[in-house]
Amino acid sequence: MHLKLETHGTIAHLIFDRKDSSANIFDRDVLAELNQQLDGISKCSKLTALIIRSNKPNIFIAGADLKTLSTASEDELESLIKLGQSVFCKLEDLHITTIAAIHGACVGGGLELALACDYRIASDASCSRIGLPETQLGILPAWGGSTRLPALLGLSKALPLVLSGKIMKVKVALRKGIIDGICPQQHLIHYASSFSSKPKRQLPAHLLEHNPLTVALIRKQAHDSLYKKTRHLYPALNRSVDVICAGVRVSKHESFDNEREAIKELSKSPEASHLINLFFSSERAKKLKIGEQMPCIINHTAVIGSGVMGSGIAYWLSTRKCQVLLKDINSDALAHGMGTIESLYHASVKRHVLSQTAAKSGFDRITASTADLPLNDREIVIEAATEDLELKKKIFAHLTEQVSPNTILATNTSALPIHELAEHITHPERLVGMHFFNPVPRMKLVEVVRAPQTSDSTLAAAVRFIQSIGKLPVVVNDSPGFLVNRILLPYLVRAGQLFSEGHAPETIDNCMVDFGMPMGPLRLLDEVGLDVSLHVAKTLSAAFPDRMEIPSILTDLVTKGLLGKKSNEGFYLYEKGKTKPNPTIQPGASPQSSALKIRDELAYLLSEEASRCLDEGLADSAADIDFAMVMGTGYAPFRGGPLRHAHDTNLLNRTFY
Ligand code: NAD
Repeated sequence: MHLKLETHGTIAHLIFDRKDSSANIFDRDVLAELNQQLDGISKCSKLTALIIRSNKPNIFIAGADLKTLSTASEDELESLIKLGQSVFCKLEDLHITTIAAIHGACVGGGLELALACDYRIASDASCSRIGLPETQLGILPAWGGSTRLPALLGLSKALPLVLSGKIMKVKVALRKGIIDGICPQQHLIHYASSFSSKPKRQLPAHLLEHNPLTVALIRKQAHDSLYKKTRHLYPALNRSVDVICAGVRVSKHESFDNEREAIKELSKSPEASHLINLFFSSERAKKLKIGEQMPCIINHTAVIGSGVMGSGIAYWLSTRKCQVLLKDINSDALAHGMGTIESLYHASVKRHVLSQTAAKSGFDRITASTADLPLNDREIVIEAATEDLELKKKIFAHLTEQVSPNTILATNTSALPIHELAEHITHPERLVGMHFFNPVPRMKLVEVVRAPQTSDSTLAAAVRFIQSIGKLPVVVNDSPGFLVNRILLPYLVRAGQLFSEGHAPETIDNCMVDFGMPMGPLRLLDEVGLDVSLHVAKTLSAAFPDRMEIPSILTDLVTKGLLGKKSNEGFYLYEKGKTKPNPTIQPGASPQSSALKIRDELAYLLSEEASRCLDEGLADSAADIDFAMVMGTGYAPFRGGPLRHAHDTNLLNRTFY
């Protein structure tokens, strides 16, 4: 039994509480049980309303069981989707008023169920989130969501929600008209009951927006904009546009048929399979446990260095309720770092991610200082000072005198050998790499680097800490550049060489955007900072001189003080929010390769280095490497990662999965 029915006067309460599971998800059994319960409810003439709610602490309904969905045969999928559609129709067709009382995640199939109700209300708890993330998994909402959301909101409001796959806070969902009200969790049932006397909902006709001409225009604009954003590399997005636009012009049941046909086709696509695998990798990272992992409660932290990374890390830790002591030797740098943090807080308030009060409390959790303050009450110290081995050795030698013997010491170095830093501290087993990515607030991945000296308990605590601050850990071994930068470097080096040979920056970059990267390699160098890239390149080229020779253009640009985006000038010029190739630097004179050849060569280099890393045991599995590359660099998610790509295309004449 996954559902419980209670009757309170004339109001039925259907309570989801999936057996032996922390989450409510839909599979065949749950749908069949819901079907049966709805049959019972429809026959009970004394009922006037139905409230659907959940008994789980922070989940309403988290959607369909993805394992079932991804392994189902075509026939099984057809029957599962048909079952969901017909059960949700049964809910929609009940003669009594139906209300979804949402507390916790209401996503995917969970929202599709809620959309079949007359009214949706939600608790204001931060765990209450609403959305249809299916397109992010390479499929589309097919239990009526692609039909009912536009019927409720109108095409132009519904389409972006399905295409972005965004999970929204309830306030946003209310503003968009997806839900009808918000209240504190303790009043949810009472508030839901107040809707029971309302009549069944009549949906607006959206006559203007759903006329054939407007629909055709919206459809064309959506496809055009998808081309700009994704080069049509994600079939689920284009298919969703077609299904949703067609849906507002045909009967509900015809639209359901379209949804079903589309999901059957999409779920067989390699894109869906790769995106779903990445989702599973992400779930594994959230739950990753090293040994008998003890709970790790870290409240007091220190960050050394208030530059790009230190300020980003301090901001992030403070949003996660950690007290942060932010240190720098340079008072201007510290003031600049605090200014960056203030702007990040301002931006979060503006985007409604944080309330004014939460932002103020977060900012107040940071103490900035250039003084040599004691650190013995800090549970963790994260070093994010300038990338210089000798400097970092000195910092750690000093830290080891300042902290308690139990303090975890972490370094955010991009590429330097952690085992060498370990030689400069007492209790070297508590040193670990914590390689955050830039920009810290946006990038979820953190490489947790295990040096030979790092103890299992330090590694376990580091992983737990990263999870507790809402980031995703991937455990890698100590080796120059660790995993992500190591794989990137031959690719970036070759891009620099291609420029020197005479290829324009946009030609090189567009090749990789066409491949599915969020930006091309030269643009990426500019974003990271050419000085930072040069530091990493030096470390890696010393370790792998045969294939990572530093391109002369990189050294030239840094010598001239052109550091990329942060100095408004690098391979590109950054002026007034616009980006254009930098006319002061000219590519070489003899371009040799076609765009396709450049694309294939650069993609090959990524896969080849990833395969070397796997062979050297830098990460535990091909899936970890692929996940790290997608999360750390935006490697074309629909391709599943550089090893999955090599596997699928037989690029390296070997298999990885
Ligand atoms: P940055 O140059 O922006 O900042 C470094 C800061 O360290 C400066 O403010 C400097 O004054 C300070 N500093 C120098 N010596 C110090 C000392 N003894 N004590 C305290 N502060 C000191 O550098 P960044 O880009 O923030 O990089 C910091 C670290 O993070 C480096 O190891 C870098 O490789 C790594 N990293 C950088 C990126 C990136 O994209 N920028 C990404 C991941 C990791």
